[in-house]
Amino acid sequence: MKNDFNFSLTASASRLHSRFASVFVVALVNFFAISTLLITMPRLAGAQAAPQGHLLIYSIDVEGGQSTLLVSPSGVSLLVDTGWPDSNGRDAGRIQAAMRDAGITRIDHLLITHYHTDHVGGVPELVKRVEVGEFLDHGPNREDSESTRTGFNAYLQAIAGRPRRIVHPGDTISIPGLSIVVLTADGDHISAVPGIALQPNPFCAPEHSWPDDPTENARSSGILVTFGGFKFLDLGDLTGQKEVALVCPFNPIGIVNLYLVTHHGMDLSNSRAIVDAVRPRVAIMNNGAHKAGMPVAWQTVHDSPGLEDLWQLHYAEGSDAAHNSPDPLIANLKGSAGTSADGAYFKVVASPDGSFSVTNTRTGQTKAYPPE
Ligand SMILES: [Zn+2]
Repeated sequence: MKNDFNFSLTASASRLHSRFASVFVVALVNFFAISTLLITMPRLAGAQAAPQGHLLIYSIDVEGGQSTLLVSPSGVSLLVDTGWPDSNGRDAGRIQAAMRDAGITRIDHLLITHYHTDHVGGVPELVKRVEVGEFLDHGPNREDSESTRTGFNAYLQAIAGRPRRIVHPGDTISIPGLSIVVLTADGDHISAVPGIALQPNPFCAPEHSWPDDPTENARSSGILVTFGGFKFLDLGDLTGQKEVALVCPFNPIGIVNLYLVTHHGMDLSNSRAIVDAVRPRVAIMNNGAHKAGMPVAWQTVHDSPGLEDLWQLHYAEGSDAAHNSPDPLIANLKGSAGTSADGAYFKVVASPDGSFSVTNTRTGQTKAYPPE
């Protein structure tokens, strides 16, 4: 216990130090940027206001798939993935429930990370119910399997005639008040993110080698979302070899406040080289009752330096009590999948000062993470 306490003190001190350093650099850059604006474009200075209000992030329970809804302070939305096909529209209905909570009626941007059924499968049902401004994806399906061909074709058919944009590493998704940068797409990755200093990554040396992954997982579009001092990382189902390529030998992401545990907590992903380097304060794992949430990945995230809480959409029933978080951090408890108690989700409310809160809709309880 004593060691744990010391460890968390050290982790906090070092986090504070690196946050302080980056805040100082940002302040310096802002000072010169604002001075330049005032000198050269006095009438436009007000247009560069710092972000205000709250960013909402919903981790929707799609039973071991992904669907993550982001809503900016001005109500502009990005949905990342759509869960599974049909099941009587279960996942589309759950996305709509989150949209109602956020007070929005349309999706402005829909990013499909890759063409596996648990991510792209919900598109045909969703577009019957909800207007979508633009569809973003990594381009053609690259996996030679019947299920991805089927999923990709159903997706193309569902979005035919609607705006579609293929994203590449370095591209941005434009939402006022947020910076959203595509880090990975179609197997390629960014080498530097504008505004983030590259840091040597000390967690690369002990990392083991990861196998080639010929599946769509390795093609996942991954994004970094920045809202003032708050950062959220969502890498879809990116697998180990691509994770390591992204952050080794230099980490272009820096540290993040919130990490969506990659690949639902599968042990094909979540290398220590990336999880430890990005030092999430809080992680959310979008596992199902009987999908992912694997002990090795759970342990890696749990042990990440600086982690305060690991929230899970489901109790991982294939794992054991030592590799599941305490009940208050779990949205859907053991035995709830498929019952009327199923479908609880997490709502994150983030502020530009880096503080945020997580609400578990099963319990109605909210935990606050104050500014550091
Ligand atoms: Zn998946």
